[in-house]
Amino acid sequence: MKKVFALAVAWALGFFAASPAQVHAEKLRVLIVDGQNNHDWRSTTPIMKAAFEKQADRFAVDVTSNIAKGDKKPAHPFDTVPFPPDLSKYDVLVSNYNGGSWPKEFNDALDARLKEGKVGLVIVHAANNSFGGWKEYNQMIGMGWRDAKYGKRLKLDDEGKAVVVPAGEDQGSGHRYTGDFQVVLRDAAHPVVKGMPKEWMHARDELYDNMRGPIENVHLIATAYSKGTKTNEPMIWTVSYGKGKVFHTPMGHDANSMRCVGFLTTLLRGTEWAGDGMVTIAIPPEFPTAEKTSSIGEAKKK
Ligand SMILES: [Zn+2]
Repeated sequence: MKKVFALAVAWALGFFAASPAQVHAEKLRVLIVDGQNNHDWRSTTPIMKAAFEKQADRFAVDVTSNIAKGDKKPAHPFDTVPFPPDLSKYDVLVSNYNGGSWPKEFNDALDARLKEGKVGLVIVHAANNSFGGWKEYNQMIGMGWRDAKYGKRLKLDDEGKAVVVPAGEDQGSGHRYTGDFQVVLRDAAHPVVKGMPKEWMHARDELYDNMRGPIENVHLIATAYSKGTKTNEPMIWTVSYGKGKVFHTPMGHDANSMRCVGFLTTLLRGTEWAGDGMVTIAIPPEFPTAEKTSSIGEAKKK
């Protein structure tokens, strides 16, 4: 009797040890949009796509490219989804797009689905330069690359206190520092960054400053001190848009900055969060430290 009981316990322990410890999360259908940008989207989108594909249990990723008229080069060596895509097939839209207007029907679909919480939105770097004249987009992104008169600007003073600068004061958006810089968590308990070092070094990137916008329903997660503006610039934030969730990172100027393990980890976890609010992707052991950057291997040149 005793022996049978012991065997049953051993079996049960073994069984549970073999089961995944984390809560089961559904697979998220991710769509990256690119095709126009004053940045090299043909080389950066594949880095993000590969990072999502490495987490195949959690993400299924497609790419749609809204190529400019006259651009004769193929978008990517892999197949893309025709633009405009059917957003109802996706849980999260990741924008690597900075270019001409999208069709109104697509804008309206994004606006409505985001508001209803049916799709999440992720904004990467120059995607926040786009669509200055689209009012709802500016609400979605919270703040972006605009001139000084466009809207308010948010910064943190030396004590870490939020300072909102009115439109017209300070400078217009820019990147007055480029290089490695330290990302400082301001809400270390937020699911996207929970467990990361409070400070971590991001590999050489443009440090966006003076982001401008309505800054409504914005939650600041991290800042970076700019040697250019001599203040703490917002570096990761979220926006609540109706029931929808937006994750915004101004990092990711080029392939080098996107190979930063810190960038990629926040991108994946931010996309999870925007998708269904659950964050399951582990923080890798090679994550950057307060002093040292950490990047994945060289991306293959096309
Ligand atoms: Zn840039």
